[in-house]
Amino acid sequence: MKREDVHGQLLGHLRYLKDIGAEYADAADPAVAAVKSKAKALEELWSDYVAGCQRCRLSEEGRSNIVFGEGNPDADLMFIGEGPGAEEDRQGLPFVGRAGKKLNEIIRAVGLQRQDVYIGNIVKCRPPGNRSPRPDEIRSCLPYLERQIAIIQPRVICALGTVAAQTLLNTSEPISRLREEVHSYLGVPLQPTFHPAYLLRNYTPRTRGQVWEDMQKVMGLLGITADNR
Ligand code: SF4
Repeated sequence: MKREDVHGQLLGHLRYLKDIGAEYADAADPAVAAVKSKAKALEELWSDYVAGCQRCRLSEEGRSNIVFGEGNPDADLMFIGEGPGAEEDRQGLPFVGRAGKKLNEIIRAVGLQRQDVYIGNIVKCRPPGNRSPRPDEIRSCLPYLERQIAIIQPRVICALGTVAAQTLLNTSEPISRLREEVHSYLGVPLQPTFHPAYLLRNYTPRTRGQVWEDMQKVMGLLGITADNR
């Protein structure tokens, strides 16, 4: 992620504050100051540590871009996937392929827009051939994600798919069982659900219903009701 991208995200959020009538959105406002300070902390994490990272072999296996993460630095809801795919690697942004379009639909279904949430991944470089990230690669990259969570301080995390859920919950339980309850990661409520790519491959009333059930739990945790979404 480039420095301009961080500034772009901050400006986007400030525009959002104005859109919703927050005419007080100036630098003296504590809410605006908090957003600015989180955006700056993310930018520093990127420039001081992640940019050019070679901590694991994924740096040498054909990555085009490091996919740092994207979204509102002050997001209440954070989605965490497994790792970049081909399109994400090409663009340097998370969830921008077909699965990304599905994730956008899921975000809209809970009454939010993509720019309201923050989207990250367990590993920030594309595993070749879309294989799953290996345990040592995950161990190398996870501290970056933990720092992002500490900066953003989301109220709810939604883990997308088996790798994200099993990594964050340090378990080998299947996603079908993990999604049945709300967990906790670094003190933040965590709801697992199926990865949007899995949903696309298994686009049945049952799986759509299960993802919707999970999102209703997320909405409940965020205090979003059918009336206010
Ligand atoms: S996957 Fe993470 S730890 Fe590995 S090279 Fe990329 S940024 Fe560094």
